Amino acid sequence: MGGLDDLYQDLILDHYRRKRGEGSLDNPTVAVDQNNPLCGDEIHLELNIVDGTVTEIAHTGEGCSISQASMSMMSEALVGKSLEDALEVVEHFRMVMHGSEQGDEDRLGDAIALEGVAKYPVRVKCALLGWMAAKDAIQTYQREGEEVA
Ligand code: ZN
Repeated sequence: MGGLDDLYQDLILDHYRRKRGEGSLDNPTVAVDQNNPLCGDEIHLELNIVDGTVTEIAHTGEGCSISQASMSMMSEALVGKSLEDALEVVEHFRMVMHGSEQGDEDRLGDAIALEGVAKYPVRVKCALLGWMAAKDAIQTYQREGEEVA
């Protein structure tokens, strides 16, 4: 198990140092802000959504390594997914963080490395921040879409 944990630590540090999806989109379909006052983590998340699919994800923010790595992993895991699939993956990740489901690497990608965070309740909010922002962004888009229709 020690070896596995080391591998996961490396993956978390790699995402923290080289955040996937860091930056801004020219004209995002939807943008949201979320923060975790317990730790001081902040995120600004932007999505492009085309024909019911998340085509691009960009984010800026600051905070602890768990929150920032998780945001990067979320970006990789959700890009290219339909809104329904993206929400399903977010929900799966939430259940994994609450210890209610075993992590599924096919759905989570590198975020499987965060599974161990479930053992540290104080860090769970850090890990969930980016994912809850993605859920918020998609639901905001869905609400506004319905209002237009
Ligand atoms: Zn944090």
